[in-house]
Amino acid sequence: MRTIIEPFKIKAVEPIRLTTRAERTDKLRHAGYNVFLLHADDVLIDLLTDSGTAAMSAEQWAAVMRGDEAYAGSRSWYRFEAAVKDLFGFRHVIPTHQGRAAERILFSTVCRPGDVVPNNTHFDTTRANIEAVGAQAVDLPCPEARRTQEPHPFKGDMDVTGLERLIAEVGAERVPLVMLTVTNNSGGGQPVSLANLRAVRALCGRHGIPLYLDACRFAENAFLIKLREPGYADHSVRQIAREMFSLADGCTFSAKKDGLANIGGFLATNDDRLAEQEKDLLILTEGFPTYGGMAGRDLDAIAVGLREVLEEDYLTYRLASVRYLGEHIARAGVPIVQPPGGHAVYIDAAAFLPHVPPLQLPGQALVAELYVEGGIRAVEIGTVMFGRHDPETGAETAAPMELVRLAMPRRVYTQSHVDYVVEAILEVWQRREGMGGFRIVRQAAVLRHFTARFEPLYSVGG
Ligand SMILES: *Cc1c(COP(=O)(O)O)cnc(C)c1O
Repeated sequence: MRTIIEPFKIKAVEPIRLTTRAERTDKLRHAGYNVFLLHADDVLIDLLTDSGTAAMSAEQWAAVMRGDEAYAGSRSWYRFEAAVKDLFGFRHVIPTHQGRAAERILFSTVCRPGDVVPNNTHFDTTRANIEAVGAQAVDLPCPEARRTQEPHPFKGDMDVTGLERLIAEVGAERVPLVMLTVTNNSGGGQPVSLANLRAVRALCGRHGIPLYLDACRFAENAFLIKLREPGYADHSVRQIAREMFSLADGCTFSAKKDGLANIGGFLATNDDRLAEQEKDLLILTEGFPTYGGMAGRDLDAIAVGLREVLEEDYLTYRLASVRYLGEHIARAGVPIVQPPGGHAVYIDAAAFLPHVPPLQLPGQALVAELYVEGGIRAVEIGTVMFGRHDPETGAETAAPMELVRLAMPRRVYTQSHVDYVVEAILEVWQRREGMGGFRIVRQAAVLRHFTARFEPLYSVGG
């Protein structure tokens, strides 16, 4: 088989600046060892997130120029609405400036204090928006999800037995909705199978509970179904995506992922009454219901992005580039979540640094070393992001897993960039025994990973 190439050529380039190791050590110390606080200019390969970092196509830039900035009922809105309805199939589409705005509107409309919202694994903003209205966010990943290094085709699946038990325990009336995140971002970028979607749908149906998708990476999930789930090899990705959405009552969507756009999102629902309430809230905080928090040009860029993201040449290249990174580091022994996910490679930092206990933040140590070694920016998805700090007692609780995510921006980096990343990771892997832990010196009460400051318990940089 021939090399799977980037199915595009480059029209505009953005320089990236090389820095020295000494410079990076200094910058990181000034940033309190939190890579969110670095200047992006001081980052060489930015794998912090695949969110809003995609390169737009020539067609998308052309669509930007066609953007209609009329306040109400713009042409851009009708193109956006048609593209979303055609693919997602929901009756009401409520535009928002990004995914978390859709989450805030949804959960503040449907949740009451004491309610419980199950998900395969909540994304950080999803969890925070549920907790902000006094409800409880419960993660129910399938048992295979925790066995990071064992391959399994659908590690994003929800634990259906666990869901049944939870509903029996708390009562269906306290579960305003069940959510499935496709692909499961915080749980390793792993796909959810149609079989699991159907099983969750059936269970929700029996209890009269609506099912929502957190659909940020629906195209990657649909393509992984095509490749891995028996019976779908001959279906188009669009058909599979439509089938996924047909099983749900609504969704939240961040267009910064599989919208191939730099900003945007929406909330969708089939519930007429709910849509009314949500639109009222939208006007209060986001904007008029024909633009949400977006400019007309954003709506147009997303309408085109939703078409391009389903092209199989694109998806083949996308998954190949993620797999390439994963396979090259795994072959050298680096423990990663297997198989590599749709948008990112997740290193198991607890297995990478078994001598660093979870409360000493092994993921944070690995993130720091990757920056010092190669100017690579990754993100910790472990105790920093999902651990608990009790402000009264000072007690810390560790997260269930210590992962470091290397997220691939869409259509941005080439294979030689990825080769460079592999080299830097392997350098850090060679000297892992000399690495130690970190402690938090300052943190916010919610979503602490964005602004916390840290102190190393060893000499960073080896
Ligand atoms: C990014 C993301 C969100 C939130 O979207 P934003 O556009 O960043 O607000 C929600 N859920 C998942 C799974 C995500 O990856």
